[in-house]
Amino acid sequence: MSDCIFCKIIAGEIPCNKVYEDEDVLAFHDIHPVAPVHFMIIPKAHVASLADCDESHAAVLGKILLLAPRLAREQGLDHGFRTVINTGRGGGQEVFHLHVHVIGGAGPRPM
Ligand code: 5GP
Ligand code: ZN
Repeated sequence: MSDCIFCKIIAGEIPCNKVYEDEDVLAFHDIHPVAPVHFMIIPKAHVASLADCDESHAAVLGKILLLAPRLAREQGLDHGFRTVINTGRGGGQEVFHLHVHVIGGAGPRPM
C-alpha cells in the first residue's frame, strides 16, 4: 500500500519513535499522544481495519493483544492501560492501517 502512512513507517520512509519491532508487528509512539503514554501496535502486513480481518489475521491479532500488556509494563504502565481500536469512519478511524492504541498514565477515564 504505497499511499499508506503506516506502511511508510514500517518501510522506514517516515521516522517513528519505536517501542518494539519483530518480523510481524511494529509498535511506536503516537505523534499526538492523548496521555503520558500513548503508542500503537500495528501488523507489518497491511490490513485496513479490524473489519477487513479474517481468519488469516488471527495469529497477528493475538500477537498484538498479547504484546499490549507487556509493552505497556515496559513503558511504565504498572497500574493498567486502555486499548482502543477505531474501526471505520463511523468508529473514528483516521489511518486505514489496522492499529491498536495503548494509552495510559493519566488515570481512569469514562468510556
Ligand atoms: P485512528 O483515529 O486512525 O485510530 O488514529 C490514528 C492515529 O495515528 C492518531 O492518534 C494519530 O495521532 C496517529 N498518527 C497519524 N499520523 C502519524 C504519524 O505519521 N506518526 C505517528 N507516530 N502517529 C501518527
Ligand atoms: Zn498500510
